[in-house]
Amino acid sequence: MTRASIFRALVLVGLTCATSAGVLAQSNKYARDPKQPVDEEYAKKIREYTTEPFFLSPLVDYLPASKTVPTPKAVLGDIAGAPGKLPYTAEVHDYMRRLEKAIPGRVKVFSIGKSEEGREMIAVAIAAEPVLAKLDENRARLAKLADPRTIKMDDAEADRLVNLSVPVYYITGALHAPETGAPTSLMELAYRLAVDESPYIRAIRSNVVTMITPVLETDGRDRQVDVYNWHLANPKDVWPSPIYWGKYVVHDNNRDAMAATLALTRNVIDFVVGQKVQVLHDLHESVPYLYDNTVGDGPYNAWVDPILTDEWQLLGWNNMSEMTKFGMPGAFAHGTFDTWSPGYLMFIGAMHNGISRLYETFGNAGADTVERKLQPSDYARTWFKQNPPLPKTMWSQRNNNNYTLTGLLTALSYFADNNKLFLKNFYLKSKRSILKPTVEGPAAYVLPGDDARPGPQAELLRVLQRQAVEVSRATAPFTVTLPAKKAKPTDKSADGAAKAAEKPAEGAAKAADEKPKTETKTFPAGSYIIRMDQPYSRIADALLDYQYWSPNDPQKRPYDDTGWTFGELFNVQVVRVADAKVLDAAMERVSAITVPSDITGTGAVFVVNNDADPSLLALRYRLKNATFDVAEEPFEAAGKKFNRGSFIIRNAQTADVQAAVRELSLQAHGVEAPSVKTHPVKAPRIGYIHTWLGTQDEGWWRMEFDRLKIPYDYISTQVVAKEASLNSRWDVLVFPPVGRGAQQIVSGLPMWRNPLPWKTTPLTPNIGKLDSTDDMRPGLGWSGLVNLEQFVRSGGVLIVSEDTSTFAHTFGMTPGLSVQAPTRLNAPGTVMRAKVVDGTSPIAYGYGENVSIYSAPGLVMGVSHTLGGRGGGRGADAGPSRPTGRGTADDMDQPQGRPLVAPLPEEPKVEAWQAAPLTADQLRNPLNVIPPQQRPRVVLRYGDASSLLVSGLLENGNEIAQRPAVVDVPLDKGHVVVFAHNPMWRGQTQGTYGFVFNAILNFDQLNAGRKLDDK
Ligand SMILES: [Zn+2]
Repeated sequence: MTRASIFRALVLVGLTCATSAGVLAQSNKYARDPKQPVDEEYAKKIREYTTEPFFLSPLVDYLPASKTVPTPKAVLGDIAGAPGKLPYTAEVHDYMRRLEKAIPGRVKVFSIGKSEEGREMIAVAIAAEPVLAKLDENRARLAKLADPRTIKMDDAEADRLVNLSVPVYYITGALHAPETGAPTSLMELAYRLAVDESPYIRAIRSNVVTMITPVLETDGRDRQVDVYNWHLANPKDVWPSPIYWGKYVVHDNNRDAMAATLALTRNVIDFVVGQKVQVLHDLHESVPYLYDNTVGDGPYNAWVDPILTDEWQLLGWNNMSEMTKFGMPGAFAHGTFDTWSPGYLMFIGAMHNGISRLYETFGNAGADTVERKLQPSDYARTWFKQNPPLPKTMWSQRNNNNYTLTGLLTALSYFADNNKLFLKNFYLKSKRSILKPTVEGPAAYVLPGDDARPGPQAELLRVLQRQAVEVSRATAPFTVTLPAKKAKPTDKSADGAAKAAEKPAEGAAKAADEKPKTETKTFPAGSYIIRMDQPYSRIADALLDYQYWSPNDPQKRPYDDTGWTFGELFNVQVVRVADAKVLDAAMERVSAITVPSDITGTGAVFVVNNDADPSLLALRYRLKNATFDVAEEPFEAAGKKFNRGSFIIRNAQTADVQAAVRELSLQAHGVEAPSVKTHPVKAPRIGYIHTWLGTQDEGWWRMEFDRLKIPYDYISTQVVAKEASLNSRWDVLVFPPVGRGAQQIVSGLPMWRNPLPWKTTPLTPNIGKLDSTDDMRPGLGWSGLVNLEQFVRSGGVLIVSEDTSTFAHTFGMTPGLSVQAPTRLNAPGTVMRAKVVDGTSPIAYGYGENVSIYSAPGLVMGVSHTLGGRGGGRGADAGPSRPTGRGTADDMDQPQGRPLVAPLPEEPKVEAWQAAPLTADQLRNPLNVIPPQQRPRVVLRYGDASSLLVSGLLENGNEIAQRPAVVDVPLDKGHVVVFAHNPMWRGQTQGTYGFVFNAILNFDQLNAGRKLDDK
């Protein structure tokens, strides 16, 4: 027996025989205050609802009693974690405010913003009276540590401030709606921290300000509680899965910390930055019984300070060590989570010089106590899990709460004991962020003032500002030295950034034998400069830099996206500048990013350039009654150049145009009507299709439609099934990815057992608002398929992406297009180069030759002139083609005994994005030959294999290289617009929204510019 196992046995004995604390010497740290009475009734319930003694710890096996302060029971009617009790957001908040009222010296509740649906988010601060009374003074000191420029980087002054200050440990819960345990854990945690007089809790109160947001996803929590209550009321029925959490996204609300598009993300950033938080600790539920993924696994994010990664180790291993001493099985700190992407909510802490932390505890998605059987991989003993979970156990919400509470209390205790260390680290990380230009670099990122796409550039700058990054603007031209580019960009709108991306690969190959070449570049006045000598340089660096994930990385299963370079995904130029001279440029800080958006000139018509700005579609709706024509060729007017797709607007009041372009950051030019080929565009009627299977990916699309106030009808596949004349109601149907297979879109959920209502009722007041149905089970059905196909054949446009592309292909709506999932390609969320193949297609209006797309991993598509053809790629890299015979490799064979007959001329090479030419045999009786005007038209293709990777992990890219990415497939009078990738992803891919919006806007003109084959 090792010392550790003897010790563990002792712990178990101690826990099973006693409810009194301090049985063991090692637990003395957590001894209770013997003078403080215990709430025996509450403690009895804790033991009753805990299914095994070793699922309890001496920290939480009792509850201190208070004559004046209500326990969670006051609101719940039972203890925290009781079976059958899931409080709504408002009840949780109500309890926190009762706590504040009962003990205001130690508890203070802040309102920190609202959700999309208007539900309040709160944060509860708990600290000892002297600390809480001087919270503002404390914050003012923390603000100086957070921005060492304010104390002239003076370490002695920092030490003085550290000595006077108390750090903030911020705990958040219920981000993921079905992970239901955090709110009650946090109600009880708040009570314990406010009331308990045991020495270690008093130390926490005095040495840490604990802040708690008990419910992050307030909208999702209320829907989840509705579903759970429906289950309690219908105990014999299967219950509906919560198809919506927040208004827009489900699980991905924990992937929004880069673009910060959701209200909850913005509220948390504002709070973390505003309160100068040192730790952001987010609570989740998945694996048994407590996985502290703070240590997690590699690769770690490449932009964080190494001080932070050491803090992860310190906190994570100490935390698990304490739980090990309590004998609680299944507590571990290493596992399948890499700390690469900064998209997780907790990473708001990591990227703002604090510390990110996350627990996964074990939940039952509700408050039922149920038997849980584990997989062998979950209960096996491993090097990082020496006391693994049990193969089978009854598991209760109280167990879950015990683990969360024990973990948090030990973590807070350790943090309190070391509070000066972590405060000093906070200062050091802030200081080192400011020193970035002179240490690791770069000195700055520059977004040139002459970017062809000012609207999307402004959007990117606003993302940075949301992250509390300081943005400056040059007041005069300035010149810096850059690494030399190999070739000059040919296309302003996309190539500058594209060329920059090619550097890493080229640089690696040539570094050995060539001196780095440099060139100077002058940026115009008005260029934006993101200085890296600022406290929040790291988040800017992480978002704007390139990512490289080696195919040889020991981590074979990236947890999330591997690439996200924001300049590429927004399709705007971003230049990384290592030359510190950039910091001497004349510049001023910019508070609000504005784009010159007004009317210049006076003339008969208003012209708006098409630069693939997503706002252009919105403009059509803002000026709904005006006449819009779209130029089919580039043109010049009033000395300015306008791209294909630019608007020529008539019959509009100047004041209306002015208001619209100001709102949308566009620029209109009053000019004489240009002479250019045009077609009219109407404001299309959009139907937006969702399923009752999953709403996660469509939510990101819907969010952007709403942000730009583009009107649409939100309809489910069940509506499509019932509506025989879809064309009478809509011109365009948008069907974003579903996350399910083609057959399931048609079949829906299994029809056995009971109906699954998603409706607003007195029992379920929070669901059925975005859309409702009596029964979620039926899918699109065969009638829906028939209606959809008829819609397209009658002239409608159907827009599909990823799995809905597969769906459209599977059911025969894309003649001449082949669609397959890749088999070898490894691209788990990668930024890839794409090239516009047909710039005359309205779908490509406003784009240059190159554009970067997000692909994860995308579909392998091909086009053909015949039905059923695979198409594409014939002859590409096929190698020598001559058969075995006489002569050398490039000789002809010669059959013996007859004169030489010349072979047929070689067929022209067909690229992977092209269809093979028809043969005479195919044309003799062309039953399967698609007529020229009905053939797929490839608009965008994946880049060449050698330059396909922009950011992230890419392996076996040749499987998708050069393949079509966006294809306009005519079907009778209408079109199916097929995306191999997802062009609207997590608010991060604004550069590719234009393809979707162009298709919508030109719905009845998609054949514009089309060159037909002869035969
Ligand atoms: Zn989660």
